[in-house]
Amino acid sequence: MTQAQLEQAIDEAARLIASSRHVVALVGAGLSVESGVPTFRGPGGMWTKYGEPDMRGYERFMDDPRKWWEERVSRASTYKELVEALDEAVPNDGHFALRDLEEAGHLKHIITQNIDNLHQIAGSIAITEIHGNRTKLRCLECSQRWDLDGFPLDELPPHCPDCGGVVKGDTVMFGEPIPRDALDECINQTRMCDCMLLVGTSAVVYPAAAFPEDVKRMGGVLIEVNPNETPLTAMCAAVLRAAAGESLPLVVQRVREMMA
Ligand SMILES: [Zn+2]
Repeated sequence: MTQAQLEQAIDEAARLIASSRHVVALVGAGLSVESGVPTFRGPGGMWTKYGEPDMRGYERFMDDPRKWWEERVSRASTYKELVEALDEAVPNDGHFALRDLEEAGHLKHIITQNIDNLHQIAGSIAITEIHGNRTKLRCLECSQRWDLDGFPLDELPPHCPDCGGVVKGDTVMFGEPIPRDALDECINQTRMCDCMLLVGTSAVVYPAAAFPEDVKRMGGVLIEVNPNETPLTAMCAAVLRAAAGESLPLVVQRVREMMA
């Protein structure tokens, strides 16, 4: 994509956002990569280095939550590199651009596949995390969530102070259903959405894969922000073939100019 083509795509994206009623961003790992969060798959990915995670993770948790929690506490060193990389990651200009779009009233919701809490740190408010949040815990019975920091872990597994249900990390494990409240909110947002921003995601994994398809089918438009071509590219009304941190701030600036 030439500079002129990118500028044209930024203009078109800004025009679509400014003229839509309910813009939703669907965000994937690509945005976190720009913040230095390691990927899981592929060369240099964490799974390539440390081996694939347990595909029966959720089943094992449910079999013996206490054992799982004890292992989690003791094996912390195995994933030290990943944990440190996550702890050091800070939001990039793409995260801040999404926050600015929300503050300006143009972005109604973020559906993210990332678990790194960077949208919250950037200051975004309306966020649904399909795969949970690494800094939180969740009650498996009532879906209440708490910050991991400060939650008492003297008894393993910890239990919900309200309903007594078993508490696990909020991050969704292999084999674990997407939390019902998160899935419901995604479906709700997708129904209202007439313009979906696809940021750093190829959305090939369900349920996320269904959202852009649904928006398109209901007559909405899709905008892709991704340095790489994806299976969604052909469905998009505007394609920004660039890093989100570079292109999204320009889109926000352009929207502001149009509304001024
Ligand atoms: Zn509970």
